[in-house]
Amino acid sequence: MLRFAPSPTGDLHIGNLRAAILNYIIAKQTNDEFLIRIEDTDNTRNINGKDKEILSILNLFGLLWDKLVYQSDNFKQHNIIANELIKKGKAFYCYCTKEFLALKKAEAIKNGKAFRYDDSWALQCKDTNPNPVIRLKGANCDISFFDEIKGECKFSKNEIDSFVIIREDGIPTYNFACSIDDMIYDISYIIRGEDHTSNTPKQILIRDSLGYLKEIKYAHLPIILNKDGKKMSKRDNESSVSWLLSQGFLPQAIINYLLSMGNKPKQEIFNLKDALTWFDIKTLSKSPVKFDINQLRHINREHLKALNLKDMTNLLESSDLSIGALAKIYLEEASTLNELRDKIALIFSKKDITSNDMKLIYDTLIKLIDEDSESLEDFNSLKAKLIELTKLNGKALFHPLRYLLTGANNGPLLNDIYIYLRFYLKEILRSE
Ligand code: GLU
Repeated sequence: MLRFAPSPTGDLHIGNLRAAILNYIIAKQTNDEFLIRIEDTDNTRNINGKDKEILSILNLFGLLWDKLVYQSDNFKQHNIIANELIKKGKAFYCYCTKEFLALKKAEAIKNGKAFRYDDSWALQCKDTNPNPVIRLKGANCDISFFDEIKGECKFSKNEIDSFVIIREDGIPTYNFACSIDDMIYDISYIIRGEDHTSNTPKQILIRDSLGYLKEIKYAHLPIILNKDGKKMSKRDNESSVSWLLSQGFLPQAIINYLLSMGNKPKQEIFNLKDALTWFDIKTLSKSPVKFDINQLRHINREHLKALNLKDMTNLLESSDLSIGALAKIYLEEASTLNELRDKIALIFSKKDITSNDMKLIYDTLIKLIDEDSESLEDFNSLKAKLIELTKLNGKALFHPLRYLLTGANNGPLLNDIYIYLRFYLKEILRSE
């Protein structure tokens, strides 16, 4: 089974979405199941409703799961297993207070040494601390694993000192809950962000301590950098999937872009279904990748171009295909749904009459709507009629006319868009 394990502690980050997409793809390619595990171990950071929000985004992206579990449902099980580890002598109660450990850390810093927990401290503070934690005994040999992207990863036993698996309130730590649940749900392949690489030896040690023999495959995805080359954080709007959706990027375009990052896809524009036939995690680059919103805009525009009229119209919350058709033409100067909405809103915006010529054209158009609708039928007859009645021509006619019909001073050929504007002329020619 493959799994995606989001924490409901904030907006879904694009790095997490990328991990979800890859887990989904590998599950489909290997005919395996796809589990969503909501990792709600951190009560202080969980945000109410974020789980539902994450699930609805996954649904919107077509990343449908076979099974959904909440990590907190297994807390009892985690505690039972921690106690088994104590019985086996692989884990122990540690009574050290935060103050004691802080003191030891400060000492280590003072001596220029890395802080390592010393098992001989376990019973210190026993008389004053009624709420011990449970620690797993640190590694007694080096731990290594093969990463499908990074290759061989090796950790010295000195880096893995005895670490907390159950907190003083009985809640399991991330590493413990994660590792146990990966066993419980028979996970065969873990794909997640590179920031978890250093957790992997601990999770392996937990399973080894329990005598779990199944080998789990790993792939840690290179981090995503912002335009300044720094790790993309919550402060970068583009890192939030909800934000990207709110800007009018299409889910299929976001998938296309995320699968193209640090990769050479078979074709530039594709959807999730296409990717299932050729995606190979081994072709992903080991290096961090920079998020390039302009590349995403380009890909989004291509996906918008590929939409059929009905879908485009629906996405613009309209029921008139003329609006979808107009949007298709405006794609020559827009890359997101929001930009298209803005262009269309401008067409219907109130027009400021700024010159005598414009006033003349405006009055003539209003008159034609009321008295001679036949001349409005197509752009050529409208043009001929306006030239005849206003005696204007060339720029003097077309510049103001463009503004009156579209609210902008430049844009697509009036000849191309007029047929879609034709039945809205009354609304478009609003000057108040
Ligand atoms: N809950 C972890 C996260 O959101 C998941 C890590 C993992 O996939 O093991 O980063």
